Amino acid sequence: MSLSISIVGARGRMGQAIATAAQAGGITVAAAVDVGDPLATAFQAGDVVIDFSFHAATRDVLTLAAQYGKPLVIGTTGHSPEEKKALQPLAQQIPCVWAGNYSVGVNLLFALTQTAASVLGSDYDAEVIEMHHRFKKDAPSGTAARLLEIILQERKLEQSALRHGRHGITGERTSTEVGIHALRGGDVVGDHTVMFAALGERLELTHKASDRSIFARGALRAAAWLVGRGPGLHDMQDVLGLRSA
Ligand code: NAD
Repeated sequence: MSLSISIVGARGRMGQAIATAAQAGGITVAAAVDVGDPLATAFQAGDVVIDFSFHAATRDVLTLAAQYGKPLVIGTTGHSPEEKKALQPLAQQIPCVWAGNYSVGVNLLFALTQTAASVLGSDYDAEVIEMHHRFKKDAPSGTAARLLEIILQERKLEQSALRHGRHGITGERTSTEVGIHALRGGDVVGDHTVMFAALGERLELTHKASDRSIFARGALRAAAWLVGRGPGLHDMQDVLGLRSA
């Protein structure tokens, strides 16, 4: 089946990466809008709208999607938890995928981490290590935060279990702590390792991103998945069939 998409935020880094990935995958770009263009144009063409723009635009994007009954992939990040919660009822009115990370590999890492944390249990010390380029302004990364959330949930631990780096006389490691270490340097796009270490063996799950095209390809996969679906809000775990029962 041939797919056609419209892009919101078309002149941005991700908008351009999506157009390039679409062309490589034989997908038609029916409309491409950015600041200054009428937003509605994106909703009057194409099977699915893909938005990678700016968080303040998400309400207008969702309102138009509901008005035109258009499936929508939201890649934009930066919403406050309150902002996101307030927008969810609108997103549920249309077929919608909304994910903070469209990398297929990272989403599989989330599922593998959950399985490993569950199977290995608290005898296996869990530590997360992430590395990003020197320009990144926040730490730990959103992806590391999600990995930690999965481990904490699986082990029934609170946020207070997190150890952000270690320094000085820390004492022996306890089985109820989870370490997180953020490295910064150079032009690293994004590396994440989840480590489970016991006496006698160690399991490491590592994902390394080297190009933003992975997010573009994931978003196109989400767009194809949405075609023909009814209203409902989904994430990449649903698209990839990784949602645990
Ligand atoms: P960017 O700044 O390069 O591009 C954003 C584009 O959106 C710009 O061209 C800007 O003019 C346009 N824009 C802003 N407001 C708009 C509006 N109201 N209407 C139409 N266009 C508008 O940023 P980027 O690196 O392409 O990232 C875009 C968004 O996607 C950011 O929120 C970023 O964090 C997010 N992102 C998400 C993922 C993911 O996997 N979910 C991956 C990478 C980036």
